[in-house]
Amino acid sequence: MIELYNTLTKQKERLVTREPGRVAMYVCGPTTYNYIHLGNARALVVFDTIRRYLEYSGYKVEFVQNFTDVDDKIIDRAKEEGLDPHDLARKYTGAYFEDADGLNVRRADLHPKVSEHIPEIIALIETLIAREFAYVAGGDVYFSVRRFPQYGKLSGRRLEEMLAGARVEPEANKLDPLDFALWKSAKPGEPTWPSPWGGGRPGWHIECSAMALKYLGTNFDIHCGGADLIFPHHENEIAQSEAATGEPFARYWLHNGFITVRQEKMSKSIGNVFLVRDILRLYPAPAVRMFLVGTHYRSPLDYAPEYIEASVRSVERLETCFQLLTEALGRALPGRGEDGLLDERLSVIESEFKAAMDDDFNTARALACCFDLIREVNISVHAAVLPSKETLEKAMGVFCGFNRVLGIFPERDGRPVFKRRVSTQTTLAWDIEGAKDDDLAMRLLQLLITVRQEARQKKDWTTADRIREGLRELGVVLEDTPEGVRWKRV
Ligand SMILES: [Zn+2]
Repeated sequence: MIELYNTLTKQKERLVTREPGRVAMYVCGPTTYNYIHLGNARALVVFDTIRRYLEYSGYKVEFVQNFTDVDDKIIDRAKEEGLDPHDLARKYTGAYFEDADGLNVRRADLHPKVSEHIPEIIALIETLIAREFAYVAGGDVYFSVRRFPQYGKLSGRRLEEMLAGARVEPEANKLDPLDFALWKSAKPGEPTWPSPWGGGRPGWHIECSAMALKYLGTNFDIHCGGADLIFPHHENEIAQSEAATGEPFARYWLHNGFITVRQEKMSKSIGNVFLVRDILRLYPAPAVRMFLVGTHYRSPLDYAPEYIEASVRSVERLETCFQLLTEALGRALPGRGEDGLLDERLSVIESEFKAAMDDDFNTARALACCFDLIREVNISVHAAVLPSKETLEKAMGVFCGFNRVLGIFPERDGRPVFKRRVSTQTTLAWDIEGAKDDDLAMRLLQLLITVRQEARQKKDWTTADRIREGLRELGVVLEDTPEGVRWKRV
């Protein structure tokens, strides 16, 4: 039984889906005006992990994540980069997929874009006007907040508080400072679409209502996003959607916590915004993902390079565990072995993992179960009597199941894949990774030199020359000296 914390009711609730066995999920995706940073990455990885766990638990998940490709930030950035706003959005959408793939975040079932849903947005605004929840002022259309009495139910804010904080733009045609724009009239040099109210473009909030309602309908299961979106974005989504349809919008609202950098807020002005692509150049992706799932999604997460360096070592332990299991499976016998204890411990660890994830997706506790598994495997494969093939296969199944949920390593045919990247970096983290690569390269080189020596002794000049020429092409020159073979890089 999965329980999840619902921002709407401010309590943990049992997951009861709209349709049995199915979960419809919507996540507010990135505004494509820049490369994604670590804060964006946290939301991506958290909701990807939740999706994976729902699937692991047997649900069929429909996962929709939009791209905000029409926005003020895009227009401003396009001017800076000297690009057309559409081209700029396309560029950063491509970059988003590179980074998300790098973090082993699965693609959504649908990635709708605002620019491709203008008719749906216009239709929704027309409904709101017809139902008198919205009004036209000049070429703009506004949502009338006071017409929706439940406004504030998600964020828990009262209208008076919002009024105190409301930003009143001097040129705005709004009747009430609380109202927000559904449609903005055309300004020179901006992307514009025709509408019943004249040329213009949608406001930010209406897009998510239009796309979520189109693909998931009303009263869908889980709406996700960062905690910074609760107000006003998600509050406005609820108001627009429920005012237009007269039905509940989403059943559960999930929000992930902030990322701080050495206990400081991540911000451009401090200069501590870390881009995903820069971090992935420095650290192995599995370690970055492990760092991101190592804390419960609602808690704040503090970043510092040494935390990821700690994850690098943890990832290596997982990798070693997998190799030990694979090797032990190679020599284990069916139906024979010392099984009792390991078999029982595997069942306990697996149920603890499920209990942790059922409890509002507690990935930190779930990760601890991975380390319990490593410990049990280490003891068993080094024991005097090896467990049976069946029990080791069960251990492998548990390992792969945990990885399928947490997404630490990419998979092929249900098994984790370990990537070794040859490093040219010089940071500490890469030194750890690089040392291993170099060590392996040295041993491979030594092996080739030995094989060549053996070939020479057998007067197999073809093989000996093949190795010498092959190495030369790789930039390694061999010299036969009276002391033996020397090599150098050229
Ligand atoms: Zn949204």
